[in-house]
Amino acid sequence: MLSHTARATAIGAVACGLKPVGAAEPSRPRTLEGVWDMHGHLSGTCLSGTPRERIATLLEYADRMGIERLVVFMGYPWAYDPTPDELRRQNDQVLEAIEHSHGRAHGFVYLNPNQTDASLAELDRCVAHGPMVGVKLWVALRCHEKQLDPIVERAVELKAPVLQHTFRKLTGNLPGESTACDLAKLAARHPQASFIAAHTDGQWERGIRALRAVKNVAAEICGSDPTAGFVEMAVRELGPERVLYGSDFAGRSFASQLAKVYGAEISDQAKRLILSGNIRRMLQPILAAKGMKP
Ligand SMILES: [Zn+2]
Repeated sequence: MLSHTARATAIGAVACGLKPVGAAEPSRPRTLEGVWDMHGHLSGTCLSGTPRERIATLLEYADRMGIERLVVFMGYPWAYDPTPDELRRQNDQVLEAIEHSHGRAHGFVYLNPNQTDASLAELDRCVAHGPMVGVKLWVALRCHEKQLDPIVERAVELKAPVLQHTFRKLTGNLPGESTACDLAKLAARHPQASFIAAHTDGQWERGIRALRAVKNVAAEICGSDPTAGFVEMAVRELGPERVLYGSDFAGRSFASQLAKVYGAEISDQAKRLILSGNIRRMLQPILAAKGMKP
């Protein structure tokens, strides 16, 4: 039997078109319809040109890996504490990308809780009256603060999940950077809302524990090295319905992040939920309300 690391390496080799020596077939569920990668961006060293060109490149890479749909948020260059103009510019880039994705990319609107009025206006422009289907919050303000409340309340009205970056850096967080504990406090105040903890704190052992009691938060596994045990612990402590696959493309490869799931010692049914079933279920109400294919 291969170790976790060996299996992850084998999967990476397959992704590169190489035949791994002495490796068993990675455990890819046979009846998988197509993966939904629920976390990624239009920036990264492999991308250039217009948003339309960037999404075309991303979809070409996604095709190689059996990824059916992408969830995209934030434009470029990145801004930690974006002004209203920067929010609109970045959301316009995402709108252009999803318009030219042939229905394969969904957008989450990038908001800044330090800019409440502008954020509510962007939420209406891009989600209520536009094609976007969720909210992305990054590092402008720690998410337990009360300035988040009107954004979350409007997102609930629109059936839009709220994805919040969560991290706990050894070198210290940015002043406005949230931890999973911060998100647990916000989620407890808004039991009707549907939250996604992007990165599950980076230090996932602590992040998973912080989220355990707040049932309206899903743990998303993107953007860290493919460490053995992450997905297994998330499934064990939260249940497979509360774990989501995302890669953080184009800053992270699809292959390394898929390996976390394909290489995990969990059932094929759990893998199917993590790779597409859970995000499809979370987005079903808003996609249905918009007449979009779930
Ligand atoms: Zn990201």
